[in-house]
This record gives sequence, C-alpha cells and structure tokens, in this order.
Amino acid sequence: MLLAGRALSKRYRMGDVEVVALRDVDFDLAERELVVLLGPSGSGKSTLLNLLGGLDKPTSGTITYRGQDLSRADEATLTRYRREHVGFVFQFYNLIPSLTARENVALVSDIADKPMKAEDALALVGLEERLDHFPSQLSGGQQQRIAIARAVVKRPEILLCDEPTGALDAATGHLVLDAIVRVQRELGTTVAIVTHNAPIAQMAHRAVSLRDG
Ligand code: ADP
Repeated sequence: MLLAGRALSKRYRMGDVEVVALRDVDFDLAERELVVLLGPSGSGKSTLLNLLGGLDKPTSGTITYRGQDLSRADEATLTRYRREHVGFVFQFYNLIPSLTARENVALVSDIADKPMKAEDALALVGLEERLDHFPSQLSGGQQQRIAIARAVVKRPEILLCDEPTGALDAATGHLVLDAIVRVQRELGTTVAIVTHNAPIAQMAHRAVSLRDG
C-alpha cells in the first residue's frame, strides 16, 4: 500500500474544550488511485488530508508511506517526504502575482530533482497558450490550473487537493477537475481530493465519506 492509515485520531485542545477532528479512522491510498473524500464541513476531511501529506501528525494511530512510519517521523523527515513525494493544491491558488504562469511553475521545477519542463506541466492542464500571462490576466479556474501545474511539475507520486474547486463556479470547477484527472491518467499520480461537492465523486475510482471524524 502506498499510504496506509490505521486507527487515526486527531484531537485539538482549545482551552478547556477538546475537539475530536478524527476518531479511529482507517484509510488506505493505493498507487495510481483517484479517491474523493466527501463529507460536511468540519467532518475531518482536511485533517485527514494533512496527515496523508505529512503536514501534521496524528494524536494516535499510525500512518505509513511505503511502510515508512510518518506518524513518528521527525520534522526533517516529514519535510523530505513532502518535498520528494507530495504535491498540494488548495482552495486558494497562492500564485506570485508578479510572476507569469511559466515563472510560477518554474520556481518549483528549479529546485526539484527530475522535474518536467514548466511548459509541459502547463500544457498538461491546458494552459499552453497562457505561458506568459500574469495571474491577474487569468480567470480563477486558469489560476487554479497553474497551481496544479506547479504542484505536479516535480512529478510527485501523490497529489493532494483540498477543495480545489471551492472558489469556482460549477463550469469552471469542471475544467479544473478535468485537469486533475488528466494528471492522474498521464503521470500515473495517486490523487486524493477533498470536497463537499458530491458530483465530483463520479470522476473518482473511489469515494470515501467522513461524518463527524
Ligand atoms: P473539514 O475539512 O471536513 O471541513 P477539518 O478537518 O478542517 O474538517 O476540521 C475537523 C474539526 O477539527 C472541526 O471541528 C475543526 O474546527 C477542528 N479543527 C481543525 N483544525 C483545527 C485546529 N488547527 N485547531 C483546532 N481545531 C481544529
């Protein structure tokens, strides 16, 4: 198994109140799988995604990447895991406004081991004709596709997307999802997408629903 979570729990203490974000969740991600994580707001989807991406550690339970325990790894190991193996896409694009599409993507390819060309990553998401546009000259959906190109230009094994269409209308969101599906097919990337938009599940190999952790 590429990623295997067992009995994952995550609790946050806010003063006297303890919030249980995840309780006792088992979750596997197989190689080349495209999984959608569904559930209402606050059900623990982002928390689970953050554990898969090595952005956070569980309070209890284990999470392993190819058998390597991430739940007990030190920060340097988690940083290396994220840098080498994981691409992230969030609801907001976090592009650098003063750089073109190509330059935003090249920023990552410059520091990666065996990157794709920035132009090829942008072509993969259908932006080959917008290479020299600045973010402000592009629509929200196009900006999100730059963010996807930036996430995959280093050829990560795993792509984790947290509400990638959350700020977009349905039609534009569809183009963004098409781009993610294309990445999965053409690069063989393993993908997990957090959403509360149930129709997205139709494009997935598997949909998993969370309810109250
Ligand atoms: P979802 O992604 O499904 O909307 P989250 O994983 O973001 O859900 O949150 C699950 C629960 O954990 C929520 O009740 C949320 O308020 C709580 N939570 C998430 N992150 C934190 C945090 N850093 N500190 C305190 N509580 C948190």
